[in-house]
Amino acid sequence: MKHRSWAEPYKIKMVEPVRITSRFEREKAIEDAGYNTFLLKSADVYIDLLTDSGTSAMSDRQWAGLMLGDESYAGSKNFYHLEEAVQKYYGYKHLVPTHQGRAAEHIISQLLIKKGDIIPGNMYFTTTKLHQELAGGTFVDVIIDEAHDPENEHPFKANVDLNKLENLIKKYGAERIPYVSIATTVNMAGGQPISLENLHEVRSLTQKYGIKIIHDMTRVAENAYIIKEREPGYADREVSEIVREICNLTDGATMSAKKDALVNIGGFLAVNDDELFDRARNMVVIYEGLHTYGGMAGRDMEALAIGIGESVDYNHIKARVGQVYYLGEKIINMGIPIVKPIGTHGVFLNAKKMLSHLSKDKLPAQALAAALYLDSGVRAMERGVVSAGRNPENGDHNYPELELVRLTVPRRVYTQAHMDVVAESVEVVYEERNKITGLKFVYEPRYLRFFQSRFEIL
Ligand SMILES: *Cc1c(COP(=O)(O)O)cnc(C)c1O
Repeated sequence: MKHRSWAEPYKIKMVEPVRITSRFEREKAIEDAGYNTFLLKSADVYIDLLTDSGTSAMSDRQWAGLMLGDESYAGSKNFYHLEEAVQKYYGYKHLVPTHQGRAAEHIISQLLIKKGDIIPGNMYFTTTKLHQELAGGTFVDVIIDEAHDPENEHPFKANVDLNKLENLIKKYGAERIPYVSIATTVNMAGGQPISLENLHEVRSLTQKYGIKIIHDMTRVAENAYIIKEREPGYADREVSEIVREICNLTDGATMSAKKDALVNIGGFLAVNDDELFDRARNMVVIYEGLHTYGGMAGRDMEALAIGIGESVDYNHIKARVGQVYYLGEKIINMGIPIVKPIGTHGVFLNAKKMLSHLSKDKLPAQALAAALYLDSGVRAMERGVVSAGRNPENGDHNYPELELVRLTVPRRVYTQAHMDVVAESVEVVYEERNKITGLKFVYEPRYLRFFQSRFEIL
């Protein structure tokens, strides 16, 4: 059969012009930003692949939903729409809205973790781990070893190593493990999915010891789509059914709705346990706002309620992940090392391998992201030693196995032509890689240092 192309299941109704800068302008901009792409002004960026967080384009239905905002302090209609969507698409019983994902992580960590506790998880995430630590816990990675190898093409690199998990439970005792933290997909491993087979096994094991599973469901629809594509037995299942099955295997979830759920701001905590819900609902009023808005405007809750439905639509998610794959395949065909399999929300350049002439203390990924911006105005993000922070005990840098630059694709925002420009810029930077000499810290904040650190060229 002749090859048949597919295209996005939408057409464009409004456009936002972007500025194309000169190399001279970019040199000044990146220097002013201390070689940290987080500190660039967006007006100086041409194609912004810093993050897929809060950067998606809303649909006309979501924009219409904004006009239905009920800005009552208490009991807004939009809260009930959102609660209905969370129950219908995700199956969790109780909803506590928050302004974004980390606020939900804060609440659940404070409620469930006590000093000295251990929280196993399928690789760390920056904010998740920090909130676990601030609550007195220690995060322990129990992801399969394949996840730490960027070349390994395991189809479900977010899977939990059940032996690692059981050994940990035996070592510390179930009383010291309040929950297992399971992310769909795993961002820091390169946007990699967990299989349902593995999640079922994690569920059986944790049930045996009476341990909860808290689900970081930030990209659950993308994970579900890959399960449909790759996991035996799921090809004929709806993405929405797979999403429900994943959620049903967990006790509660934190959600950054700024990713999968197609809104610019928002998040929530969802739990099934009535007593835990009461405590979470009480805590949200201290930090976020009343339990029927939790830091979101009514209109934002409406847009989110609509976005959740759109996010599990097969044609949407196929085009979303398909665009990321298009970029990834193009870069692979240029002979440039990236994390494989290609992630669902972005392409992760293997900076360690691309810049093999730089030792890890020269911050190769940070330097690569700066070089890419300089070449074309494409903004990417470091995911390596700078993101991994320092060991709280001895203050040394944490050197993760993976030293990556993430080209994160916002949902429904850029075209395939933008992806071509990005890939070509990556190729030019790779060809001229020997000009990159590395960076050193000149300013380093205490928490989540990747956001605000400043650097100088070595
Ligand atoms: C973005 C993200 C979070 C944190 O959510 P925010 O909305 O940015 O606070 C948590 N976990 C994962 C996997 C994420 O990607």
